[in-house]
Amino acid sequence: MPGCIFCDIGGERTDSEVLFRDDQCFVIRDINPEAPTHLLILPLAHVTALADLGRDGEASIGHLFAVAEEMARREAVALSGFRLVINQGPDSGQGLPHLHVHLLGGKPLPGLG
Ligand code: 5GP
Ligand code: ZN
Repeated sequence: MPGCIFCDIGGERTDSEVLFRDDQCFVIRDINPEAPTHLLILPLAHVTALADLGRDGEASIGHLFAVAEEMARREAVALSGFRLVINQGPDSGQGLPHLHVHLLGGKPLPGLG
């Protein structure tokens, strides 16, 4: 999607470090980390909401979570614990309209709500 920074990063049109990539998704560090480990796991395709993943949505979201778990092990937070978050829509505070899973860990995280 023209003008989408995450599409540009996934498409290697920036010099941003990509920690992992495969044929479906890629992983980057959040530019404004809220924890010692704060990664974003993103589909290569520009989709804004879970419903936009379409017919193969369940497999796609499952893959994003499987990659997140692999990244938690690589970042050595799998045993200490981590949080996966998707912000979707205005009430969530979703800031960028390219679906992404946050992976947060490396310190005790504040409770939700
Ligand atoms: P959201 O609020 O949409 O769930 O989260 C968007 C996240 O993307 C924020 O945590 C923000 O810090 C991060 N972010 C925004 N722009 C960039 C960028 O250009 N590069 C990277 N790596 N992260 C970004
Ligand atoms: Zn995009």
